[in-house]
Amino acid sequence: MTVTMKVNDKGKRRILKGHPWVFRSDLVESPAAPGVAAVTDAKGAFLGQALHSPHSQIALRMIGRGAETVDEDFWKERIEGAAALRKALKIPSDACRIVFGESDGIPSFILDRYHEAYSFQILSAGLETQREALLSCIQRIFEPAILVERNDVSVRNLEKLPLSAQILKGGGSTEIEVREGGLRFRVDLLEGQKTGAFLDQRDNRLKAAALAQGRKKILDAFSYQGWFACHMAQAAEEVTAVEQSAPACLSLRANLGLNQIGNVKIEEANAFDFLKEADLRKDRFDLINLDPPAFVKSRSQLKAALKGYKEINLRALRLLNPGGVLITSSCSHHLSEEKFLEILEDAARDARRRVQILSIGGQAPDHPVLLNFPESRYLKCFFLHVL
Ligand code: SAH
Repeated sequence: MTVTMKVNDKGKRRILKGHPWVFRSDLVESPAAPGVAAVTDAKGAFLGQALHSPHSQIALRMIGRGAETVDEDFWKERIEGAAALRKALKIPSDACRIVFGESDGIPSFILDRYHEAYSFQILSAGLETQREALLSCIQRIFEPAILVERNDVSVRNLEKLPLSAQILKGGGSTEIEVREGGLRFRVDLLEGQKTGAFLDQRDNRLKAAALAQGRKKILDAFSYQGWFACHMAQAAEEVTAVEQSAPACLSLRANLGLNQIGNVKIEEANAFDFLKEADLRKDRFDLINLDPPAFVKSRSQLKAALKGYKEINLRALRLLNPGGVLITSSCSHHLSEEKFLEILEDAARDARRRVQILSIGGQAPDHPVLLNFPESRYLKCFFLHVL
């Protein structure tokens, strides 16, 4: 028997607006167990079905407004639909996100492909109850040579779910090679950040390579394993990649070797310090890429994070030669595009530079943004021309 969750008027309004989340405070009554639930308004009128998490503040994640049976075939259809979209997108890589949670109608589920390996994350207690069905779908649809669980994500703590990262199928090496726009990259399926790589920046990296064409000195700050740096190095004279994590620098070096790239200098350093010292040395660059980690992990950190974004962007603007390009990203959910733009405006004013927006990018389309779910648009990337 399906359990029923009652929501108050506020929760109902959110659902009718198309937002997939209902917060705990908007539940009228709820059962204790996680799982798929029917959702009704306070009077008992049916609103749809959702995944229920008993511990998280996000109590309900809507699956849809219909009443169909939510079983393995239901999920299979959703995953196949998501996979068909990725195929149609003709992504210039054999690594891509196949399911992006709520945006693809499978709330709190991530499925990434790295060549012949598939890596998944289950990020809510409600969805955890569907684990066996989902794994069976992955097996039936993709028959992966390697299947990896990357449930070592802190949001699982909020759901009171255990953390775990393991290879479920296809032992051997945990490293795999993928291609992106003609280059080769090593991905560590168990140790790499996210599920191994930052697939969401793919289009911005390819655009950065185009903008790097013929430029002399390029800086790639917060480089991770150097995917931006490798792409830009193809087109430019010399790239400096700054990254503070030693293992990431090692992987960066391996990626340079794989692609026989000889014009990237690796600086294992704190990017804040590097930018400051480069300015003191009067170093100048023709293109700078800033791709920091999410400085805003929660709303309470917003103020300190804004300062961080301002600082690196201000310093980068000061370091650019006239006619230079600044590519600057923020992947913080809590920092809107408008707010990010304000920071860039402040930085341009303080640096006394005239700055033109060439274009504004976001996450690659295999991470689609769901309308009425602003939380799904998290990556902002400004391409700026600095006079
Ligand atoms: N541009 C990369 C992704 C960058 S993720 C890509 O396209 O794949 C952000 C990176 O910044 C991480 O590798 C993290 O280790 C690094 N990082 C975080 N804080 C840093 C700091 N203060 N200085 C230098 N690197 C930092």
